[in-house]
This record gives sequence, structure tokens and C-alpha cells, in this order.
Amino acid sequence: MRGLMQDWKLLIHKVIDYAATEHPGRAVVSRLTEGPMHRTTYGDVRRRALRVAKRLQKDGIEAGDRVATLAWNNHRHLESWYGIAGIGAIYHTVNPRLFADQIVYIVNHAEDRILLLDLTFVPLIEKLAAQLPTIERYVILTDAAHMPQTSLRGAIAYEDWIGEVDDDFRWLDVAETDAAGLCYTSGTTGEPKGVLYSHRSNVLHAMMTVMPDAFGLSTKEVVMPVVPLFHANSWSLAFAAPMAGSALVMPGPKLDGASVYDILETEKVTFTAAVPTIWFALLQHMEQNNLRLTHLKRVGIGGSACPPAVIEAFETKYGVEVLHAWGMTEMSPVGSICSIKPEAASERYEELLAVKSTQGYAPFGVEWKITDDLGKEQPRDGKTFGRLKVRGTAVARRYFKREDENILDEEGYFDTGDVATLDENGYMRITDRSKDVIKSGGEWISSIDLENLAVGHPAVAEAAVIGVAHPKWDERPLLIVVAKPGAAPEREDVLDFLRPRIAKWWMPDDVVVVEELPHTATGKLLKTELRRRFADYRLP
Ligand code: ADP
Repeated sequence: MRGLMQDWKLLIHKVIDYAATEHPGRAVVSRLTEGPMHRTTYGDVRRRALRVAKRLQKDGIEAGDRVATLAWNNHRHLESWYGIAGIGAIYHTVNPRLFADQIVYIVNHAEDRILLLDLTFVPLIEKLAAQLPTIERYVILTDAAHMPQTSLRGAIAYEDWIGEVDDDFRWLDVAETDAAGLCYTSGTTGEPKGVLYSHRSNVLHAMMTVMPDAFGLSTKEVVMPVVPLFHANSWSLAFAAPMAGSALVMPGPKLDGASVYDILETEKVTFTAAVPTIWFALLQHMEQNNLRLTHLKRVGIGGSACPPAVIEAFETKYGVEVLHAWGMTEMSPVGSICSIKPEAASERYEELLAVKSTQGYAPFGVEWKITDDLGKEQPRDGKTFGRLKVRGTAVARRYFKREDENILDEEGYFDTGDVATLDENGYMRITDRSKDVIKSGGEWISSIDLENLAVGHPAVAEAAVIGVAHPKWDERPLLIVVAKPGAAPEREDVLDFLRPRIAKWWMPDDVVVVEELPHTATGKLLKTELRRRFADYRLP
């Protein structure tokens, strides 16, 4: 028997409708790419999103078409998402940190028809435009006064573009399972793969992240996604903040420690989120200048493992609670968030820190298991490693234009490519990407654990551990570090620091200091590149 309740569709433009109705005056503040701060409200964001929708229709964009955005976090980028999805088209977020040939590949693969881009990226796209035949017109996210001279086809300033229509428009009625957004994985192995989010998955995912033990958003919060809109939906914050009626602060292009500190303070941000590297820089800036945080209460950190030293610094020095989170593009992206359950609580901070350093537990909407290589489920004992597999309401079922390829196991789980343990309380700990695992004498050594420990050394700013071929043990760990400014980490000193903290056979065989470590477009260590560079390295 069917239930007798209404079929109220889960559509992302209903999120902005809701915010504009119930929280119309709530602030949306952006640092513009042109420089100054800009202030608007959810009411206005919706009115301008309606214009985007109307204007796209005028340009011939239809349901199912892809419209690309290449932009920083600002109100124009935000309203364009809602406008695009509001006519059943698909916003395709392009990550400007991808290599140029990857940008060309994904825009062509997506067959984007319009590209909306920030001023910053005009020179880059001018160089690539000849290779982007599907793009019919370029909309520069600025006003007439800042419009550059450009050769880009049909180029127009965004404010002029939406200025040609009014906001008398009704969203198109689409199915909640229709596609709304497209985001490509950064493709550290092989070509980037397109993850095609639906309205429904985006709405349910945002509801999941709003919850008290997740990001805990509400009308009392001022939320700043430092994580870019082009990095897996800014971890849902572009939907979750308006859904919760939180004020929104968009930091624009300046993401160095000083700029992030400045905007956190002046805009009285209470919740923010980004990858660890952003927070390394902020902590360093605050330390060097003896600064305090006045308003910030919580910070979400994920995308790469967050070292315990960073969690401890935020919590004990600055009084800011850290929520360590894990996820991936294929999961919309949030897969777990680490808040403390009563059964994991402790009076001793050291014990608490051990829990907080895990990637957390699954929120409602995510199911997971760990298996061995043959697919056999492994015990949840906090010790046994396994391949982490997930299924849920916002997890990919197929990749875009690769619909023939099955990516799920017989129970419908997607293999994340991560290796993890699960403990009795449900906390998950990532030990490695499966392709980064170090196998020494048949046993696994966790590169993430070693990296986390190494950055606790006072002279180490960043660390990477890779396996290097060894005649007796197959592979042994090599620790590669970047020095903190003005510091010079010594091999023996770093090893002495690690020795009491890890099992003897986990000790890196050598320590190398480098100027810089290679990263992917989403800020992760590029271990394939490191392995290539150190392929012939001879351990002492
Ligand atoms: P990519 O497109 O490079 O895969 P994603 O952002 O989707 O970019 O990356 C997802 C991967 O990032 C995860 O599978 C995991 O390996 C890593 N990751 C994300 N968050 C964490 C975390 N908190 N700790 C450890 N690894 C993480």
C-alpha cells in the first residue's frame, strides 16, 4: 500500500526558495575577485538566480544541458548554481587547479555550452578557448566597469548578461532524480571521471551535514566555506547554509593565512571548513603574530588526513572545536564526520584527541563496511585493516558517460579506494589510499600515521611517506619533509622524535628534506609523482 503523503520534490532551488522566504534578510557576504567586500541577502540571491535561469533560457539552454563555472567562492558563483539547476540544466564546476589539458578534457567531455568564469581565469581560458569547441559563449563574472578586453567568444559581463532580463520567472518543474550538478574527480590515476549529482542527492546530503553532530548549522551560525565551490560542492555548504538559515561568508580568491584570519575576524565567522593546508597556514600566521580567534567556534577539516597536532592547536590554544571529516567527490562528498559520542568521551584530552584524529563515524544516509581483497567483510575491532566500501543516499552509482561500467559490488557498495579500520564505537580511521599502502615483509605500514606524527616535530611543516623498494622487505618507508620557515629538520633528530611513538618496524629508513611537495588539484599529496621522483632512491 502506498503512503498517503504528498510528493514534495527534493529540488535544490527549493533550498534558495526556502531561505528567501524564511530568512530573506540573512547576510551573504563575499570578497569579490575585483577586491572589495560585497553584501547581499538570500532574498537577493534568489532574485538574481531567477534572472540567471531566465537568461540561460534566452540563450537556448535546455534541461540536461551543462553549464560550466570556473570561479572562486562568491555570491555570483552561488546564484548561478541555483539559476542553472532551476531550469533543469546542470552546473559543472571546473577546478582551476587542474592541469590545463585536464580542463580541456573535462569541458569537452561534459560538452559544456556556456562557461561562466571569474576575472582571474580569463587569461587561462583565452589560451585554451581554441580547444573548447562546445562553448558557445563566455560570461565573465563581473560588471561592465571591470570587464576586460578579451577575445573570448560572445564574452559578456555577468551583470550585463542578467541585466537584460527581469526576475519574473518560474523554476522549471523537474524530477528530483534529475541531474543538477557535475563534478569530476581530480584524476590522479587515469582520466578524470564525472560524478553527476541529482537534486535529490544534493538536498539529502545537505540535510545530513546540517545535523547537530555533523556541521551543526543553524540561524545562529555565520558559515564560511573556504573549501571551494568547485571542490565537491564546497562540502555541501552552498546548500546547507541557506537550508539552515545560516549567514554565509564567501572568501573569494585570497586564501592565505593572513587573509583567512582577517575575514574570520571581521565577518565574525562561527563555522568554517577547508583542507588541512589552509589551516597549517592560518595557525602559522596566528602563531607568528600572536593572534587570537574571537568568534570562531568550530572548524571542519577534511580532504586529507588532519594531523593530531593541528586538532590540538585549534582546540587547546585557540578554543576552536575541530570536526575531522572524510569524504570524496563520489560521495557528494561527506562520508563521515568526527564528533564525540558519549561512549567515546573521556576526561583526558590525550584520549579524546586519539578519537578526534579518526575520520569519525557515518551519519544517517551513509552505510559502510571494510573487506579484504576478496570482498570478505572484516571485523570492527579498530585493528583490522580493510578496503572501505560505502553505499548511501548521496553516493555515485555510475560515472557520467560511462554508464556501462559497474562500479558497485553485489550488495551495492562502492569501493572508495581507501584502506581503513572501524572500531567498536563506529569510528573509522583511514590508514592509506589502497594504492599508497606500504607493504613491508608482508605487513602494512600506514603512511598517514607516519605523516601525522612527523608534522608534530617542531621543525616540520609538511610530510609525505612513500614505500621504496627494499631487497629484503620488499618495501620500506621513506619520510620526505618540508621544513618550517627558518627551521632545518635533521634526519637523526626527526627519527629520534618518531622512535618512542611507533613500532620499531614502522620506523622510516631515511628522512629527506625537500623544498616543496607535489599536490593534486584538491590539495592532496601527489604520491604517484613522489614515487616517480624517488624510484631509484637508495636507502642507507
Ligand atoms: P579526488 O578527485 O582527488 O579523488 P576527492 O576530494 O574526491 O578528490 O578525494 C577523496 C579522497 O581524499 C578520499 O578517498 C581519501 O583518500 C582522501 N581523504 C579525504 N578526506 C580525508 C581525511 N579526512 N583523511 C584521510 N584521507 C582523506
